[in-house]
Amino acid sequence: TGKGATLGVLIKNAEALETLEKVDTLVIDKTGTLTEGKPELVSVEALNGFTETQVLQLAASLERASEHPLAEAIVGGAMARDLSFSDTDDFASITGKGVTGTIDNKAVALGNLQLLETLNIDSAELDTLTRQAETGRSAAQTVMFVVIDDQPAGLLAVADPIKDSTPEAIRELHAAGIKIVMLTGDSRTTANAVADTLNIDRVEAEVLPEQKADVVRQLQAADHIVAMAGDGINDAPALAQAHVGIAMGTGTDVAMESAGVTLVKGDLRGIVRARHLSRAVMRNIRQNLFFAFIYNSLGVPIAAGVLYPVFGLLLSPMLAAVAMSFSSVSVITNSLRLRHTQL
Ligand code: ADP
Ligand code: MG
Repeated sequence: TGKGATLGVLIKNAEALETLEKVDTLVIDKTGTLTEGKPELVSVEALNGFTETQVLQLAASLERASEHPLAEAIVGGAMARDLSFSDTDDFASITGKGVTGTIDNKAVALGNLQLLETLNIDSAELDTLTRQAETGRSAAQTVMFVVIDDQPAGLLAVADPIKDSTPEAIRELHAAGIKIVMLTGDSRTTANAVADTLNIDRVEAEVLPEQKADVVRQLQAADHIVAMAGDGINDAPALAQAHVGIAMGTGTDVAMESAGVTLVKGDLRGIVRARHLSRAVMRNIRQNLFFAFIYNSLGVPIAAGVLYPVFGLLLSPMLAAVAMSFSSVSVITNSLRLRHTQL
């Protein structure tokens, strides 16, 4: 644990430590990990006669009730523009899709295409809106639709820059023979834009929260040993399903509860280090088992008299006690060597 602390890695149980060594696939939630996790509002577009101020003011008022990182970005964007907020009635959060509510007697909805489909927004307009949204998405932005009284009213784009340490972390994970799967509820275009710059092996986008654990299950069914790294927002079941759940330190308490490993500093490189630690500890445990058994497997038969008929040799209790202590000393000395392991 002393080692782990300096690396910002907390390993909760022996099972997680043992499994880490065998992991060949890492599933990562896009927002919890790969990116900085501090999304910012980068553009507001108004449609159908609505103004940008109206769109952002209503969207941000709605998002004040949401705990999603996207909500924080939108509320922050409105505050940066000195907009005021109104009270929301009948707030509802539709996981993996967006949020709805009533503000100043207007029905306001904010979210992705699936949300608009759920709300039965006119399908002819959806095509045009999607095309408009794709521009920002191909620049890795998350683009959401704002609907006011069943009318598409605007587009909000949020950007979450890739963490500085991510490319290096991915290189190290690849070098360790680990395949990387990106898992996100965000659009395919956004996900691919992020994945392309990062050399990700596989992208699973537009995945609803309840399907995230299924993606992990499918990889496991194909005989992969899967680690899943996430922030606990919508992905706690997937964290629990994986062979090793890895909570990112920037995430929620739920994540830490569902996960065997926590990366306190949210740095993916911790996984590679934790794996080295896992390998060193497991090798050490096997050596210790050897030390523990070798004295016994030699000493016990001698004490029982196997050498007595031929050599007249028995093990005196005093020597047996010395051997027993040597066994413990060997184990402890060997374990202490772990303190010098290069991670
Ligand atoms: P992720 O896998 O990236 O954590 P989620 O499942 O939380 O994604 O959300 C998927 C998509 O649903 C988001 O990209 C966004 O378009 C929409 N969405 C979810 N929650 C909100 C919200 N509070 N406000 C706006 N859009 C949201
Ligand atoms: Mg999430």
